[in-house]
Amino acid sequence: MALLKVLEHPDKRLRNKAVPVTNFGAELQAILNDMFETLYKEDGVGLAATQVNIHQRIIVIDVSDDRKSPFCVINPEIIAREGKQYEYEGCISFPGVYDKVERAGKIRLRAQDQQGQFFELDADALLATCLQHEMDHLDGILFVDHLSRLRRDRLLRKLEKSRKQTA
Ligand SMILES: [Zn+2]
Repeated sequence: MALLKVLEHPDKRLRNKAVPVTNFGAELQAILNDMFETLYKEDGVGLAATQVNIHQRIIVIDVSDDRKSPFCVINPEIIAREGKQYEYEGCISFPGVYDKVERAGKIRLRAQDQQGQFFELDADALLATCLQHEMDHLDGILFVDHLSRLRRDRLLRKLEKSRKQTA
């Protein structure tokens, strides 16, 4: 296993569109292991492969409090959405800054597991938010893209300031 380097804003590679996974072999298992290690190290709830410069449609998630419920979704597609929620989001590509983003409240997802088996998943609350956020990454979309220009500028200034303080 190896820790992967997380791309941070404004790295242009965060804007790449990821391609579907077609090979569910040993290479994919190795990527998943490294992504989980990186997710836990960064203390995130979700990580998209795009964020570690692997441009394939792979997401790893653990929204549990005890950090012991890892699962992955591969080639995910939202097949139904319902309602709205408006919650704070952060992103390990934007360390230390948060803002509220409007998302669907409930979603139904169709995806593949690490063996390539198709499954459907109903998600709401934090899991729904997280899945929508990570799926955006696979299309090169960032959570700040959902903010008004005013709030985006404010958040990016805060990000710069916190970087200067830790530099
Ligand atoms: Zn993110």
